[in-house]
Amino acid sequence: FPDSGTDYLAKLNPEQREAVETVDGPLLVLAGAGTGKTRVLTTRFAHILMTRRAFPNQVLAVTFTNKAAKEMRERVSAILGRPAEGLWLGTFHALCARMLRRHAEYVGLTSSFTILDTDDQMRLLKQVMDAAVVDIKRWPAQGMMAVIQRWKDRGLTPARVSPAEDSDYANNKARSIYEAYQSRLKALNAADFGDLMLHMTEILRTQPDVLAQYHRAFRYILVDEYQDTNTVQYLWLRLLAQGHHNICCVGDDDQSIYSWRGAEVENILRFEKDFPGARIVRLESNYRSTRPILAAASHLIAKNEGRLGKTLRAGRNDADGEKVRVVSLWDSEEEARMVGERIEQAQRKGVPLGQAAILVRAGFQTRSFEERLITLGIPYRVVGGQKFYERAEIRDAMAYMRVLHQPSDDLAFERIVNTPKRGIGDGALQQMHVGAREQGIPLAIAAERLARTEVMRAKPRAAMRELFDGFSRWRALMQREGHVVAVATMLDESGYTEMWKQDKSAEAPGRLENLKELVRAIGEFATLEGFLEHVALVMENDENAEGERVSLMTLHAAKGLEFDLVFLPGWEEGLFPHQRALDEGGTKSLEEERRLAYVGITRARKMAVISHAANRRVYGNWSAAIPSRFLDELPPGEIEREGSGAAQRGRMVNAPTVFSGQFPLSSQRPARVIEAGAWEVKERPARADAMRVGQRVFHQKFGYGRVTAVEDDRLEVDFEKAGQKRVLDRFVEKA
Ligand code: ATP
Ligand code: MG
Repeated sequence: FPDSGTDYLAKLNPEQREAVETVDGPLLVLAGAGTGKTRVLTTRFAHILMTRRAFPNQVLAVTFTNKAAKEMRERVSAILGRPAEGLWLGTFHALCARMLRRHAEYVGLTSSFTILDTDDQMRLLKQVMDAAVVDIKRWPAQGMMAVIQRWKDRGLTPARVSPAEDSDYANNKARSIYEAYQSRLKALNAADFGDLMLHMTEILRTQPDVLAQYHRAFRYILVDEYQDTNTVQYLWLRLLAQGHHNICCVGDDDQSIYSWRGAEVENILRFEKDFPGARIVRLESNYRSTRPILAAASHLIAKNEGRLGKTLRAGRNDADGEKVRVVSLWDSEEEARMVGERIEQAQRKGVPLGQAAILVRAGFQTRSFEERLITLGIPYRVVGGQKFYERAEIRDAMAYMRVLHQPSDDLAFERIVNTPKRGIGDGALQQMHVGAREQGIPLAIAAERLARTEVMRAKPRAAMRELFDGFSRWRALMQREGHVVAVATMLDESGYTEMWKQDKSAEAPGRLENLKELVRAIGEFATLEGFLEHVALVMENDENAEGERVSLMTLHAAKGLEFDLVFLPGWEEGLFPHQRALDEGGTKSLEEERRLAYVGITRARKMAVISHAANRRVYGNWSAAIPSRFLDELPPGEIEREGSGAAQRGRMVNAPTVFSGQFPLSSQRPARVIEAGAWEVKERPARADAMRVGQRVFHQKFGYGRVTAVEDDRLEVDFEKAGQKRVLDRFVEKA
């Protein structure tokens, strides 16, 4: 290696340096957020290479996300002064997939095995359950999949599931279904995601030759975010570390936030037992955040009981910072406006957009912020997820709405005709296409005609008729009761929401929340047409701008990251702490929510802005939201409360409920009476005073601009921030 000296060590404090230089033997770094755990791990990696203890490919480094892996690769390269190649660096799954390709034959696969996606997994499991004559209505396949995944998280192959660990799911057939599912996978030369860890661990357990080979291969093992490892990951690590015992894990029990995915924080406690003579290094200086931010985070997390306990003090030279803001707002729109304004202010002060992040508890919350950022022309990215209107369930629901509004929308119709599955197969779809082409009519009309003839088979025909009856009903409903009621009813009666309710995957509840948020968004518009137009514009606005962007993500996805300016919106009971945690009761799930809050606050370097809205729109009505209990757990001396006047105006309460993920969507149908002032109609009626070219205008979403062309009720406007757009004239006002 080129001798670039030991400069990199000079950038560490004595404890960090100890953790880096204690290269041999087991080491656990147990320390709070921002104390440099990841920096220690990266420097240690470089140190091992620089001191020629190992070649780059003899170090196994485990990160929590692919993004973190990329960052670590870059940091190691920077310290080395050249690109780092051939590294065994990545997430548990990525590393296991790479290993398993080499030894697949031990578990009955070949090296070219395929990794199944969730859809394929479910299809396969359903076949297996059918063959086992399980009543899938009573015991949904998704539930079975959850049982199997849990076993895999715990490193249990079917043979290792003892009677004590068996599940009574599916009339006590769970274990035999698991066994059959695994042999089907094998027959297909396939593995599901959980198999990657399970198979590889099983191989290491049962094949001493293979294990010995890896003991020779890996001289050093490094693990980040150790508090969130599950049992099978732990077993895998322990097996690999049995060789040289050179394992270094860094973690923070206060940041354990994945127990719902099988993570066992107890793995931290087991470390000393399993690796006798392990050194434990504690880091106490936080180099990330200002003192008020740290004080807020520490005070909050102190309310948790099950903690190992750690000291955390500000280590930055410029640690005196501004107090943490707690802002009370009237509703989520006002909350989004507040966040947008502050981001603009920060931008004017020279803070790069990449240094601002909005961290939400639940994915659906990104919508109002996305819309606000689009309005302001501020580029953003959704990290670890998709933009709201690009999510599959939102696209499906939008397709339903487009068909409701415009039956000749072929693309939309094709998307929903068999979603949820109603037995309309490729054959029937083919017939529709042929009919539509031959007669030169829209697909939906062709389908409706076919549904009345004997040409189509009986089952799809009945399903089609039911769907079309539905659409006529929902259109009538829209006339009578308005678009919000119609859309919510449509999503329920078409079986669409039910489809996700039946889905027991981990993502399904979030998708249902997104659908609820969608219905809420529709309520902000006077007509369905207005809403559809709005979304089309929002989507179109999604240019691939280069450069700095604001990050939006869930708190879970933010682990390990840091930003100058962090917004933490939606601190309301039922939202954060999440309703599911409250429903479960007990302190365990509440403590995990509190750890999430701790993770959130400690992402901030200079400024944290926590906010809550006093009202949430639930199905077109307002309901009061109770401020999160976590707000009361912040140290009063370290925070500054700001209330928008609006939040003090008093509450309009239609229902005593806090936000909760109740379904069906249409069950919260409002009374016909809409209280004065409670219903905010965003669109303005068409105006007589026509717009002229050159007129300066203001648009709800795009802000200020100048009219460049007028065509009936449509205007071309050159917006100051959003650029050239076509908009309906009733959405703009003269400015
Ligand atoms: P988390 O628990 O959130 O994952 P962490 O313990 O991994 O945090 P790092 O991300 O490694 O902490 O470090 C936090 C910040 O502090 C980073 O910006 C890092 O570069 C900086 N930092 C770490 N150690 C030092 C140091 N000795 N001197 C100056 N800055 C440091
Ligand atoms: Mg870290």
